[in-house]
Amino acid sequence: MQSAACATRSWLAGSPAPAPAGGSSGSGRAPRRAAAATRRLPLRVAAAAEVQQPSSSSAKEVLERAADRTGADGAAFDPRAFRRSLNSTGRYTRKPSNDPDSLSLMEEHGVGYSTAGLVAQMREQGYAWRQGDVNVKLAEAYGFCWGVERAVQMAYEARRAYPGQRLHITNEIIHNPSVNQRLKEMDVQFIDEGADGGKDFSGVKEGEVVILPAFGASVQEMRLLNDRNVQIVDTTCPWVSKVWNAVDNQARKGHTSIIHGKWAHEETIATASFAGTYLIVKDLKEAQYVCDYIMHGGDRAEFLAKFENAMSAGFDPEQDLQRIGMANQTTMLKGETEAIGKLLEKTQLQKYGPGELSQRFMIMDTICDATQERQDAVYKLVGQQSTPEGIDMMLVVGGFNSSNTSHLQEIGEMKGIPSFWVDSAARIDVGANKVTHKLAHGELVETENWLPEGPITLGVTSGASTPDKAVEDVLDRVFRIKDPSFTGITPRKTSVQKAAHGEEE
Ligand code: SF4
Repeated sequence: MQSAACATRSWLAGSPAPAPAGGSSGSGRAPRRAAAATRRLPLRVAAAAEVQQPSSSSAKEVLERAADRTGADGAAFDPRAFRRSLNSTGRYTRKPSNDPDSLSLMEEHGVGYSTAGLVAQMREQGYAWRQGDVNVKLAEAYGFCWGVERAVQMAYEARRAYPGQRLHITNEIIHNPSVNQRLKEMDVQFIDEGADGGKDFSGVKEGEVVILPAFGASVQEMRLLNDRNVQIVDTTCPWVSKVWNAVDNQARKGHTSIIHGKWAHEETIATASFAGTYLIVKDLKEAQYVCDYIMHGGDRAEFLAKFENAMSAGFDPEQDLQRIGMANQTTMLKGETEAIGKLLEKTQLQKYGPGELSQRFMIMDTICDATQERQDAVYKLVGQQSTPEGIDMMLVVGGFNSSNTSHLQEIGEMKGIPSFWVDSAARIDVGANKVTHKLAHGELVETENWLPEGPITLGVTSGASTPDKAVEDVLDRVFRIKDPSFTGITPRKTSVQKAAHGEEE
């Protein structure tokens, strides 16, 4: 798979060109960590959840429909063979073309890597920046991964390749509001949910173009689009496709796929559609429950109720847990996925003995390194907290419905560091020194006086679907709060051309 990170970028025709401001490193950090934490006012709930979630009943139906393996003639349907067959239709694209004009437009729109803005300049000088009282430490892996960059690039290329045609996308291209807004402005139609909770494809006509997002689409959606003779631009990240192959292999060998993921997440719905029998566990606790059931049996009714929304139709825990395989949503915490894999393997070993293990358990490494690298980089930042160079607070930038960003936020919260997750600069009120931010468990809160007076060290990271421009805009507001005379960072061409880690498959 070709990396999407190959194109040279220059920052940033569409951004303001402010007057010069300071940069580079500095010193004079005063002790104020405790003050920074205690200056936070009590949090006020702004909204239960700003991100729209499907109702559990409709999402369950979507999941079940997606996983239907019955062909039109009633015969068994082979998802992998079907997806391969799309290649020969002449109406299917799954690779970027590296069209230079599309790449230029991405630069102009600020939907790629920063090569001249603050983030690029920070990266070039050791992932650090000092602006007056604010000492910024950028995580060494942050922001756009190559899979996301590749998907956005393919969407831009599709717009240029089909200039007069109606262009649809089955979901957000990636979990970032500004990038999705750019596509809307380019007249890309987002397919809405219908009354039954599924997508309403009634507006998609024969011969039109439909983009599948980076986290994929269910095989049933692909079948529908193929039947409608549309041109499909499939931007599914190859790492996600790798998981689909894993669950398909498990289905072929009669194994149930235990998927570590969130059952209502689009990627997991798509993965389930390529699996045979499946069960989705969201964390180690649920996996332990399943393993206890395997070892000792249990309350069948309770089991079925617990996983009501997260299992294939007709799931039978007595039968379907005898042969299992492990799979994952690519954005889950790597350590937890590994722990669940080991737990399942150990359970099968204890239950059936070493001689049968290879027939009872399947696993393949499908964890996306880009996600893990971003998590490791945050652990490194928060790990310095008790040292003189440590950070006072974390700033996490990323879409509020981005699973990998929620895990970055989770790390700061777990370590007891004030951590502020925003999806755009608009969440920060400069005049009032107020921020509206999301907590890892989903609550949206508003904090006043969130930036304390005096020197502060800020750890900064961003989710894998966050363009660097979003981080630069957020930091611009931070600097303006701390210094009302701040006028902006002057862009400067740097040697930075691609993502911070995670660019190779
Ligand atoms: S986070 Fe990983 S799986 Fe997701 S799009 Fe990026 S490279 Fe692909």
